[in-house]
Amino acid sequence: MNTTGIYDLLAQVPDPEVPAINIIELGIVRDVTETNGQIIITITPTYTGCPAMKVIEQDIAQLFTAQNITNYTIKTVLNPAWTTDWITKEGRDKLLAYGIAPPITTTANKKILLGDTPIIACPQCKSTNTTMVSQFGSTACKALWKCADCLEPFDYFKCL
Ligand SMILES: [Zn+2]
Repeated sequence: MNTTGIYDLLAQVPDPEVPAINIIELGIVRDVTETNGQIIITITPTYTGCPAMKVIEQDIAQLFTAQNITNYTIKTVLNPAWTTDWITKEGRDKLLAYGIAPPITTTANKKILLGDTPIIACPQCKSTNTTMVSQFGSTACKALWKCADCLEPFDYFKCL
């Protein structure tokens, strides 16, 4: 199987945190190379020690075993660190459709560091009249927000 085929297979692996998007859309697959018949998949986890990483590796192993692919190695690279900017356009659209506010860009995140509060639009009604309820939503990777207009709580994907 060539590297394009491997990418297609990897696109079948869901993000354990948000199963609506796959790991390609999440942007954690850095590279797929083939050297002397050995496939090397380079992955950057969303954050160090993310428990989702183990699940992703198991999913890949299962998928590849089913395809009789054994000549592969999963390489974890932490530098440069993954940022939410790596989430693809498709990934962002799916997050929104799934009711999760997609992350704002790194540039906007820098504003948080400078003390400005980010403005997160409600995924249901697009209102920006929202407040953060909790740093932690359904998983450690998400914060819980609430919309003051439609009163719907929603998850915000907060990994930087
Ligand atoms: Zn709303």
